Amino acid sequence: MSDFSIAFIGAGNMASSIIGGLTASGHRAASIHAADVSTESLEHLTRVAPVTTGTDNAAAASGADVIILAVKPQVMAEVCASIAPVVAESDALILTIAAGVPIASYQRWLHTAAPVVRCMPNTPSLLGSGASGLFASPEVSSLQRERAQAIMDAVGTSVWVEEEQQLHAVTAVSGSGPAYFFLFMESMVNAGERLGLDRDTATALVQQTCLGAARMALESGVPLDELRQRVTSPKGTTERAIASFEAQGLRELVHNALTACSARSEELS
Ligand code: NAD
Repeated sequence: MSDFSIAFIGAGNMASSIIGGLTASGHRAASIHAADVSTESLEHLTRVAPVTTGTDNAAAASGADVIILAVKPQVMAEVCASIAPVVAESDALILTIAAGVPIASYQRWLHTAAPVVRCMPNTPSLLGSGASGLFASPEVSSLQRERAQAIMDAVGTSVWVEEEQQLHAVTAVSGSGPAYFFLFMESMVNAGERLGLDRDTATALVQQTCLGAARMALESGVPLDELRQRVTSPKGTTERAIASFEAQGLRELVHNALTACSARSEELS
């Protein structure tokens, strides 16, 4: 895809990760502009890539094909007000990574039915291994969809959902998902210790097991249930553990936890 111009409003952790991913995948730093109220954030960003920076949101947004809103939800109304005059005069795509703010709010704050893509990323995006859910308002063109996807694919993988409400489910699965795996890993480390390993040994084994299982799930093309069955020999050790998980209702526990997460996401939006 040819280089298009991108303005980042907010130059914090997510912006610098996305910019790092974009420039590593060949996007020219010269076509990226970033604005932030914090000169410290801007200085840090220029160490990631030689992009143009400034403290004027409207100046950064001016002439951009894609305006990425990478600020916290609490300041979003104020940030939209600062770029509204520029957005009114352009057909730029607005790509927002803030959780919980509906598209209708952006269009109200911007005083126009601008094309908006909402993205729900997760923290591994900071390492280029993120999983993002994307939703596009009807005003978004197919070229703009491609651009939004190219941007988020620079820090991991992204999937489209067809209804805005589905972003609550995305939040429950991938947005909050890393924390579930950390909890499961913590539990495995504790169990390993109680079975006689020292903490460092248990931690190293759990970390690599998690990575190995994720890679098999991603790279083998084999469905998850079949991968599990392949490790589970009849009457063997794994079968005992799996039977214990099943008997204690692990699937129901996971279902209840994700339902609670999705409900909280709805409450917050
Ligand atoms: P951050 O705090 O690192 O960066 C936000 C930046 O916005 C800061 O540099 C701040 O100075 C700047 N800012 C504040 N007010 C501003 C204004 N009026 N104009 C311009 N800039 C302003 O936050 P982050 O971790 O990069 O998160 C950005 C967004 O992404 C948030 O909405 C967050 O909820 C969302 N998000 C982050 C993650 C993550 O892994 N960090 C995951 C999912 C979603």
